[in-house]
Amino acid sequence: MKSTSTSSFMGVYIRTRCINAAAPICGDIEMGVAVRLLMADFEYESLLDRARDKIPTEISERARWTLPDPEILIEGNQTIIRNFSELISKMDRDPNHVYQFLLNELGTSGTRESVRVMFKGRIPPKRIRGKIVNYVKSFILCNQCNAPDTHFVKEDRTTLMKCQACGATRPIRL
Ligand SMILES: [Zn+2]
Repeated sequence: MKSTSTSSFMGVYIRTRCINAAAPICGDIEMGVAVRLLMADFEYESLLDRARDKIPTEISERARWTLPDPEILIEGNQTIIRNFSELISKMDRDPNHVYQFLLNELGTSGTRESVRVMFKGRIPPKRIRGKIVNYVKSFILCNQCNAPDTHFVKEDRTTLMKCQACGATRPIRL
């Protein structure tokens, strides 16, 4: 059986499409307790095989949105996200926006290459993961229905985030 639970960073459980929404079952993922706490605000899931069996594969795949686990490496006096481009392709956001957000949040400088980003200083991986979670909450997930199917729309001078799943919009500051 195909399973992404050991390599995925976060799963968003979309209420309207999944069965048994009242009792989402969290399985063990390698990331462990820290991330689970960070993700507590989300309907985050790693369904047990038992539960997954009840969902037709097609629906279960469509309902899940996950990010690959960020590969974070501390080398000398810098911290590297080796698979930044992979994360970005899942996020469907401007790489520079994500990069600048991380720089601001981490309070450091860095370098962005095509595949990886490097930050100055030795930054605990847990801290970087937390910032990525913050980005996802602020700029990807709909705050009405939690769906990740959102995009930015410019209206006059404001930018709105519009959800394709439920239609909700909210202003965001880029
Ligand atoms: Zn929505």
